[in-house]
Amino acid sequence: METKDYIERENRYGAHNYHPLPVVLERGEGIFVWDVEGKRYFDFLAAYSAVNQGHCHPKIVKALIDQAGKLALTSRAFYNDVLGEWEELMTKQFGYDKVLPMNSGAEADETALKLIRKWGYKVKKVAQNEARIVVCDGNFHGRTITIVSMSSDPDSYGDYGPFTPGFVNIPYNDIEALERELKHPNTAGFLVEPIQAEAGVYVPGDGYLKNAAELCKKYNVLFVADEVQTGLCRTGKMLACDHEDVRPDILVLGKAISGGMLPVSCVLADDEIMLTIKPGEHGSTYGGNPIAAKVSIAAVKVLLDEKLAENATRIGKIFRDEMKAFKSPLIEEVRGKGLLNAIQIKTMDGKKAWDLCLVMKENGILAKPTHEHTIRFTPPLIITEAQMREAIGLIQKSMTEFI
Ligand code: PLP
Repeated sequence: METKDYIERENRYGAHNYHPLPVVLERGEGIFVWDVEGKRYFDFLAAYSAVNQGHCHPKIVKALIDQAGKLALTSRAFYNDVLGEWEELMTKQFGYDKVLPMNSGAEADETALKLIRKWGYKVKKVAQNEARIVVCDGNFHGRTITIVSMSSDPDSYGDYGPFTPGFVNIPYNDIEALERELKHPNTAGFLVEPIQAEAGVYVPGDGYLKNAAELCKKYNVLFVADEVQTGLCRTGKMLACDHEDVRPDILVLGKAISGGMLPVSCVLADDEIMLTIKPGEHGSTYGGNPIAAKVSIAAVKVLLDEKLAENATRIGKIFRDEMKAFKSPLIEEVRGKGLLNAIQIKTMDGKKAWDLCLVMKENGILAKPTHEHTIRFTPPLIITEAQMREAIGLIQKSMTEFI
């Protein structure tokens, strides 16, 4: 079979809820992936930041294989001998009393929303069914009905109503708007991405997160950070909130918590919040399974042992400096933090970011537009300076060829 045959088969039998670049991948190692024709690419998407540790990291693969042959799934009807090890590591590493495992990022966000409401009723004493949760325009927290009910993007919410009530949207990076909503006595939580990644890598102003967290404290509202994409060293710190020394009341993690090996996500919080949920009130068959626990332990250790936060800071700066210095009429803005970066592309002769991604693909760089005019550049965090410089050369060559 050739590339076009694989694509035709997916298009024929699979739902059309994605629009992939026309490349068919069969192997990955480190920062590289190979297609079915044997061509090698720099992976500058890293599975939407799930593969921070690089493809098929040997330590994470070993954890997967060892555990898969021993005990894969018990459900939470019984204890198992590895979940506690993961729970202890996660709570100590991130500094919370408790952790609750789920699978996808969306499920972890749903869990956080439930916790906000439970805490609102049980602790803050909001009147039953009146709890409000403040969210930001431009947010991306996943794809469930409740989550798209918070979205301001018609592609996410269009034709999916009726929507879950109880959310209040405010502009991102607008502290006055936030304070207005926090004053409402029924407001129980503020859910925010420290950087809006899917929206196009929008970095809020310095101090925004700190001010927001302080205001939440002042008004007795939970500050909830969705670090599914920004977390786990992507922005140059373990958490993007660490840049402003902010400790969220509820922390949501996913993606790179398993190094791209299988879906693992979680929510961290202290007892006052987490223990409002009692046995039987929330859960997931696969959440916290033994393979997930072992894989996630290995994935977190790789982030720490290989100092991937430091590498993201250093290499990310090289990327932004070089791309800002590159004078191309195509570039409107280069923005980001650590290795979570994006370039805003000017449309030329009707050609869009997608068309540039096709040229980059030909030159051995895989990246994907997020919305029409923005391309996200988020390679695995293990990328070396030499590899980044080679990749920058290929990106710049592609831009030159494009115009
Ligand atoms: N939250 C954020 C900030 C995300 O970026 C994403 C996915 O891109 C999600 C949640 C949803 O994660 P998942 O696709 O694993 O459900």
